[in-house]
Amino acid sequence: MVTASVENGVASQNGQTFAQSAKVVFVLGGPGSGKGTQCASIVEQFAFTHLSAGDLLRAEISSGSENGLMIQNMIKEGKIVPSEVTVKLLQNAMERSGNDKFLIDGFPRNEENRAAFELVTGITPEFILFFDCPEEEMERRLLGRNQGRVDDNIETIKKTFQSFH
Ligand code: C5P
Ligand code: MG
Repeated sequence: MVTASVENGVASQNGQTFAQSAKVVFVLGGPGSGKGTQCASIVEQFAFTHLSAGDLLRAEISSGSENGLMIQNMIKEGKIVPSEVTVKLLQNAMERSGNDKFLIDGFPRNEENRAAFELVTGITPEFILFFDCPEEEMERRLLGRNQGRVDDNIETIKKTFQSFH
Protein backbone atom coordinates (compact mmCIF):
# COMPACT_ATOMS: atom_id res chain seq x y z
CA MET A 1 0.00 0.00 0.00
CA VAL A 2 1.26 3.45 -0.86
CA THR A 3 0.89 6.00 1.88
CA ALA A 4 1.88 9.63 1.84
CA SER A 5 1.92 12.19 4.59
CA VAL A 6 3.29 15.65 5.22
CA GLU A 7 4.61 16.38 8.69
CA ASN A 8 6.45 19.55 9.61
CA GLY A 9 6.87 20.29 5.93
CA VAL A 10 8.69 16.98 5.40
CA ALA A 11 6.62 14.73 3.15
CA SER A 12 7.17 11.00 3.43
CA GLN A 13 6.12 8.05 1.28
CA ASN A 14 6.30 4.44 2.45
CA GLY A 15 8.43 5.59 5.37
CA GLN A 16 10.87 7.38 3.10
CA THR A 17 11.55 11.06 3.64
CA PHE A 18 10.84 13.48 0.80
CA ALA A 19 14.61 13.80 0.24
CA GLN A 20 14.90 10.02 -0.15
CA SER A 21 11.93 9.56 -2.49
CA ALA A 22 12.43 12.71 -4.60
CA LYS A 23 13.80 12.20 -8.11
CA VAL A 24 15.59 15.26 -9.41
CA VAL A 25 17.07 15.74 -12.88
CA PHE A 26 19.15 18.85 -13.46
CA VAL A 27 18.64 20.27 -16.96
CA LEU A 28 21.59 22.33 -18.12
CA GLY A 29 22.83 24.06 -21.24
CA GLY A 30 23.69 27.58 -22.32
CA PRO A 31 21.18 30.44 -22.33
CA GLY A 32 18.82 29.89 -25.25
CA SER A 33 19.82 26.24 -25.75
CA GLY A 34 16.18 25.14 -25.38
CA LYS A 35 16.05 23.88 -21.77
CA GLY A 36 12.60 25.28 -21.08
CA THR A 37 11.24 24.19 -24.47
CA GLN A 38 12.43 20.60 -24.05
CA CYS A 39 11.28 20.42 -20.43
CA ALA A 40 7.75 21.35 -21.49
CA SER A 41 7.77 18.35 -23.89
CA ILE A 42 9.18 15.99 -21.25
CA VAL A 43 6.47 17.05 -18.78
CA GLU A 44 3.80 16.13 -21.34
CA GLN A 45 5.19 12.58 -21.69
CA PHE A 46 6.37 11.82 -18.16
CA ALA A 47 5.00 12.79 -14.75
CA PHE A 48 7.67 15.36 -13.92
CA THR A 49 7.16 18.84 -12.50
CA HIS A 50 9.23 21.40 -14.39
CA LEU A 51 10.90 24.04 -12.23
CA SER A 52 12.97 26.75 -13.89
CA ALA A 53 15.32 28.55 -11.51
CA GLY A 54 15.23 31.63 -13.75
CA ASP A 55 11.41 31.64 -13.84
CA LEU A 56 11.26 31.34 -10.04
CA LEU A 57 13.68 34.25 -9.70
CA ARG A 58 11.61 36.35 -12.14
CA ALA A 59 8.43 35.49 -10.19
CA GLU A 60 10.20 36.64 -7.03
CA ILE A 61 10.93 40.01 -8.69
CA SER A 62 7.27 40.37 -9.75
CA SER A 63 6.01 39.46 -6.28
CA GLY A 64 7.67 42.61 -4.93
CA SER A 65 9.72 40.65 -2.39
CA GLU A 66 12.53 42.36 -0.47
CA ASN A 67 15.08 40.50 -2.62
CA GLY A 68 13.40 41.59 -5.87
CA LEU A 69 15.61 44.54 -6.74
CA MET A 70 18.84 42.65 -5.99
CA ILE A 71 17.68 39.72 -8.17
CA GLN A 72 16.67 42.02 -11.03
CA ASN A 73 20.07 43.73 -11.03
CA MET A 74 21.91 40.41 -11.02
CA ILE A 75 19.83 39.04 -13.91
CA LYS A 76 20.42 42.22 -15.92
CA GLU A 77 24.17 41.85 -15.38
CA GLY A 78 24.09 38.13 -16.20
CA LYS A 79 25.34 37.32 -12.69
CA ILE A 80 24.47 34.36 -10.48
CA VAL A 81 22.05 35.12 -7.63
CA PRO A 82 23.26 33.95 -4.17
CA SER A 83 22.56 30.23 -3.77
CA GLU A 84 20.59 30.58 -0.52
CA VAL A 85 17.95 32.66 -2.35
CA THR A 86 17.60 30.33 -5.35
CA VAL A 87 17.70 27.08 -3.36
CA LYS A 88 14.97 28.36 -1.00
CA LEU A 89 12.75 29.18 -4.00
CA LEU A 90 13.34 25.71 -5.49
CA GLN A 91 12.68 24.01 -2.16
CA ASN A 92 9.40 25.91 -1.63
CA ALA A 93 8.28 25.10 -5.18
CA MET A 94 9.06 21.39 -4.74
CA GLU A 95 7.11 21.25 -1.48
CA ARG A 96 4.13 23.05 -2.99
CA SER A 97 4.02 20.83 -6.10
CA GLY A 98 2.72 17.67 -4.39
CA ASN A 99 4.95 15.72 -6.81
CA ASP A 100 8.27 13.98 -6.17
CA LYS A 101 9.72 14.02 -9.71
CA PHE A 102 11.36 17.24 -10.83
CA LEU A 103 13.14 18.65 -13.84
CA ILE A 104 15.18 21.53 -12.48
CA ASP A 105 16.15 23.76 -15.37
CA GLY A 106 18.96 26.33 -15.34
CA PHE A 107 20.32 25.08 -12.04
CA PRO A 108 22.99 24.59 -10.73
CA ARG A 109 24.85 27.46 -12.40
CA ASN A 110 28.01 26.92 -10.35
CA GLU A 111 29.53 24.63 -7.74
CA GLU A 112 28.12 26.75 -4.89
CA ASN A 113 24.59 26.30 -6.30
CA ARG A 114 25.10 22.54 -6.44
CA ALA A 115 26.53 22.21 -2.94
CA ALA A 116 23.84 24.45 -1.40
CA PHE A 117 21.06 22.44 -3.05
CA GLU A 118 22.33 19.13 -1.70
CA LEU A 119 23.03 20.58 1.74
CA VAL A 120 19.65 22.32 2.15
CA THR A 121 17.35 19.75 0.51
CA GLY A 122 19.32 16.57 1.23
CA ILE A 123 18.46 15.42 -2.32
CA THR A 124 21.06 13.77 -4.54
CA PRO A 125 20.15 14.37 -8.20
CA GLU A 126 19.63 11.35 -10.48
CA PHE A 127 21.49 12.69 -13.51
CA ILE A 128 22.10 15.76 -15.63
CA LEU A 129 20.50 16.37 -19.00
CA PHE A 130 22.82 18.68 -20.93
CA PHE A 131 21.96 20.53 -24.13
CA ASP A 132 24.99 21.32 -26.22
CA CYS A 133 24.12 24.14 -28.61
CA PRO A 134 26.40 26.37 -30.72
CA GLU A 135 26.73 29.94 -29.45
CA GLU A 136 25.51 31.50 -32.73
CA GLU A 137 22.34 29.43 -32.51
CA MET A 138 21.76 30.34 -28.84
CA GLU A 139 22.22 34.05 -29.68
CA ARG A 140 19.78 33.76 -32.59
CA ARG A 141 17.19 32.06 -30.36
CA LEU A 142 17.60 34.58 -27.51
CA LEU A 143 17.25 37.61 -29.78
CA GLY A 144 14.17 36.06 -31.40
CA ARG A 145 12.32 34.90 -28.32
CA ASN A 146 10.29 38.08 -27.63
CA GLN A 147 9.29 37.32 -24.05
CA GLY A 148 10.08 40.83 -22.85
CA ARG A 149 12.98 39.64 -20.69
CA VAL A 150 15.43 42.26 -19.37
CA ASP A 151 18.32 39.95 -20.27
CA ASP A 152 17.42 39.32 -23.92
CA ASN A 153 19.63 42.10 -25.28
CA ILE A 154 23.02 41.71 -26.90
CA GLU A 155 24.97 43.31 -23.98
CA THR A 156 23.48 40.97 -21.36
CA ILE A 157 23.68 37.99 -23.72
CA LYS A 158 27.46 38.44 -24.02
CA LYS A 159 27.68 38.51 -20.20
CA THR A 160 25.51 35.41 -19.72
CA PHE A 161 27.63 33.53 -22.29
CA GLN A 162 30.70 34.42 -20.19
CA SER A 163 28.98 33.30 -16.97
CA PHE A 164 27.99 30.09 -18.74
CA HIS A 165 31.56 29.29 -19.78
O1 C5P B 1 17.91 30.17 -16.85
P1 C5P B 1 17.51 31.56 -17.21
O2 C5P B 1 18.06 31.99 -18.55
O3 C5P B 1 16.06 31.82 -17.09
O4 C5P B 1 18.23 32.49 -16.12
C1 C5P B 1 18.16 33.90 -16.23
C2 C5P B 1 19.09 34.53 -15.21
O5 C5P B 1 18.66 34.19 -13.89
C3 C5P B 1 20.54 34.09 -15.26
O6 C5P B 1 21.28 34.73 -16.29
C4 C5P B 1 21.02 34.47 -13.87
O7 C5P B 1 21.23 35.86 -13.76
C5 C5P B 1 19.80 34.12 -13.02
N1 C5P B 1 19.94 32.75 -12.47
C6 C5P B 1 20.73 32.57 -11.34
N2 C5P B 1 20.91 31.32 -10.80
C7 C5P B 1 20.32 30.25 -11.36
C8 C5P B 1 19.49 30.40 -12.52
C9 C5P B 1 19.32 31.67 -13.06
O8 C5P B 1 21.29 33.53 -10.82
N3 C5P B 1 20.54 29.03 -10.83
MG1 MG C 1 14.74 29.07 -19.37
